[in-house]
Amino acid sequence: MINRNEPTTPPTASTRRSFLQMTGLTAGIVGISTPTAIANDETTTTTMTYELPPLPYEYDALEPTIDAKIMRLHHDKHHQGYVDGANAALESLAEMRQSGNFDDVKAVKRDLSFNLSGHVNHSVFWKSMSPDGGGKPNGELADAIDEHFGSFEGFKEDFSAAAKNVEGSGWGMLVFDHISNEPMVIQAENHNDIAVQGSTPLLVLDVWEHAYYLQYENKRGDYVDNFWSVVDWDSVAKRYETARNANVFDDC
Ligand code: FE
Repeated sequence: MINRNEPTTPPTASTRRSFLQMTGLTAGIVGISTPTAIANDETTTTTMTYELPPLPYEYDALEPTIDAKIMRLHHDKHHQGYVDGANAALESLAEMRQSGNFDDVKAVKRDLSFNLSGHVNHSVFWKSMSPDGGGKPNGELADAIDEHFGSFEGFKEDFSAAAKNVEGSGWGMLVFDHISNEPMVIQAENHNDIAVQGSTPLLVLDVWEHAYYLQYENKRGDYVDNFWSVVDWDSVAKRYETARNANVFDDC
């Protein structure tokens, strides 16, 4: 679950409410709870905030693939930073709407895209792995991978090449494309650049240096190769099943 707090800010005078209406795409499928509508009241303000989800296992649970020190820093510091950044951007946007001054809108919208995408990617990343992971997918996900990529090995090769060859910091991602209704391997630079609009992340691998450098140093390839031993295919299959039944672009 990608956590989002319900509004908590107490009412203050002379302020207006604001709310962010998430699109139903990634939000619903990956588990971001949609904010509820709040009464428009001149005496009430609302601050929606994202929240760091707990790591679904112990820090050392993925050793020796990823050591505890990396996991602790990555989850507690880096992911928290993206959550804080997304919340700060939302707050700035609320202030802009209140003041009517949108001079900084371009920079703040950029901050929101970067940090919120970082929050989504990391939330899916933790769930993409398990100490009981590894092996191969089963059922309909396995069939879809065979159909689209030729074989599981062909998919692994595609995904690994994508992850190893991200330029700079970024992600290798298996996503569900809601236009073709097929799985697709893509890259994201940073968290959001060159990604595919309207696709749902199913399996993601963080290849920012903070994800592996303390253990693997400059050997990103070894980190990517070892990742397969901790992939939680049951979790990936769950997202695939939800995504392929979402029919989000049926009217387009
Ligand atoms: Fe990261």
